[in-house]
Amino acid sequence: MKEIQCFFCSQDVHDIDYKDTELLRGFISGQMKIIDPRYSSVCARHQRRLAQAIKRARVLGLMPFVRA
Ligand SMILES: [Zn+2]
Repeated sequence: MKEIQCFFCSQDVHDIDYKDTELLRGFISGQMKIIDPRYSSVCARHQRRLAQAIKRARVLGLMPFVRA
């Protein structure tokens, strides 16, 4: 059986756009935490970039730190 591929690898995404908050929201939980890569099946390389993108989006006020 083939392993589930990382979403970003399958989309051939190299740099995750922090402005794409709609996409980023798909990888954070209801508590505004980044979903464990074991559940989101994002590879370690993209998980790092995803975390950076989310952090940047938060700093710029594009995404909330906690759910209001
Ligand atoms: Zn990946």
